Amino acid sequence: MNAMMFSEGTLGLRRVAARGCPGWSWADVEPVFARSAAGAFPLADLPDRHVLAEAFVHSAEAAGIPVATDLNGENNEGVGLVPVSQRRGRRFSVVDGYLRPARRRPNLTVVTDALVSRILVEDGKAVGVAFRNEDDAVEDEARCNREVVVCAGAVDRPISSSCPELARARR
Ligand SMILES: Cc1cc2nc3c(=O)[nH]c(=O)nc-3n(C[C@H](O)[C@H](O)[C@H](O)COP(=O)(O)OP(=O)(O)OC[C@H]3O[C@@H](n4cnc5c(N)ncnc54)[C@H](O)[C@@H]3O)c2cc1C
Repeated sequence: MNAMMFSEGTLGLRRVAARGCPGWSWADVEPVFARSAAGAFPLADLPDRHVLAEAFVHSAEAAGIPVATDLNGENNEGVGLVPVSQRRGRRFSVVDGYLRPARRRPNLTVVTDALVSRILVEDGKAVGVAFRNEDDAVEDEARCNREVVVCAGAVDRPISSSCPELARARR
């Protein structure tokens, strides 16, 4: 479903974001974008431009909205065709960019079809997670020495409707 659009945000948005969020100023995030665009995460112009997308840009321009030729450039407020995260015309995901190259690391284990039910907290510190595989009634644990990174997406995303445990937890 993800359309592969790659936008680093406008200068205005970045200023707003930086106001209450130390570490998110353009000076902070720009080197990270530059690193990923140069290596792990390729950017490309949309290979198939829909006739309506081009008509939309022309209409906006005719209405006086400036055309931004580089939507990830410094001065990118306006209308334009957004670049996409693709390599050789195919979707390029964070799995391609970051997970696949790390798959052979001895300290990486990927567990699929597993639902995390809770974070294990001992002495006030997160020390791992409890999870259960799809058909497994018994809970497993994954423990860590350093930190637990929660990256379970937005609250109330569609998974919850297909996942009874999450739906129950919300109630
Ligand atoms: C229709 C649509 C189009 C989009 N198009 C674009 C686009 O073109 N460009 C762009 O940059 N962004 C786009 N986005 C936004 C982008 O997809 C999200 O911002 C991004 O996927 C968020 O990544 P994430 O890793 O934070 O979370 P997610 O990708 O949501 O990943 C979270 C994962 O955690 C899993 N999870 C949740 N709870 C548990 C649990 N208890 N145990 C185990 N696993 C759990 C979920 O199943 C999911 O796989 C789009 C989003 C949508 C919905």
